[in-house]
Amino acid sequence: MQNRTVLITGASRGIGREIAKVFSKNRYRVVLNYFKSEKEAENLEKELRDSGCDALAVCANVVNYLEVQNMVKKAISFLGRIDTLVNNAGISIGRVFGDTSEEDWNKIFDVNVKGTFNCCKSVLPEMIERKKGKIVNVSSILGIVGGSCEVAYSASKAAIVGFTKALAKEVGPCNININCVAPGLIDTEMNKNLNEHDLELLRGRTSLCRIGTVQDVANAVLFLSSEEANFITGQILQVDGGLVI
Ligand code: NAP
Repeated sequence: MQNRTVLITGASRGIGREIAKVFSKNRYRVVLNYFKSEKEAENLEKELRDSGCDALAVCANVVNYLEVQNMVKKAISFLGRIDTLVNNAGISIGRVFGDTSEEDWNKIFDVNVKGTFNCCKSVLPEMIERKKGKIVNVSSILGIVGGSCEVAYSASKAAIVGFTKALAKEVGPCNININCVAPGLIDTEMNKNLNEHDLELLRGRTSLCRIGTVQDVANAVLFLSSEEANFITGQILQVDGGLVI
């Protein structure tokens, strides 16, 4: 019997897509948020439904509060309730600081930080009423150590760390767990600009001598959503192969 439910932002591609697959394999009913990649989201919805999972793709720009509220209404009407919210949608720009415009800065903070704010704000009232819920935010190892040519991105991901810790304190008494994963380099389109030389260098810097897979991150998110993680909140789980120890 499928009984647990999840809303995943940015589930059309990359890490979010794999989170949806891993949760559905673990008997979750899923709502897949997407923004621009409609075809990919619809294909994933079909793939999950064909495998016997309840899945619904919902379009929303996480930057837009009204769109997020509508998405959450649709998710609750489809799922009944939201046991887990995964704030995965995110963008990076990869530009030296001198070339980073005000527009770049605002865009990164809008999607990565305001998007997380909008989704938490829209999902929390229902979780607080039920006195139960889990939220997993997707930060980045760069939010902890900072990355050259990624100042805006690193700052936005550090904001998610602070956001997670503060909100975990505030809603802990309502039995809501809020944690973060901080992935290292993961093989997705976000890193398509890296050449083989860069990749080899980065592989060499991890203790496990490899680049991460989308499954590595999805499994960590699944754990933080599980009953086994009931006493864990406000934590940042690095999924980086020992890049930063
Ligand atoms: P990706 O392959 O580029 O996918 C990004 C996802 O975010 C897409 O599904 C995209 O949806 C969605 N998205 C972007 N803007 C959105 C918006 N305004 N509203 C709703 N959805 C939006 O990236 P990824 O590598 O899977 O990254 C996923 C998360 O992991 C991000 O938060 C990223 O910062 C974090 N992360 C990634 C790495 C890495 O090495 N890949 C490392 C650390 C952290 P559409 O295509 O439908 O617009």
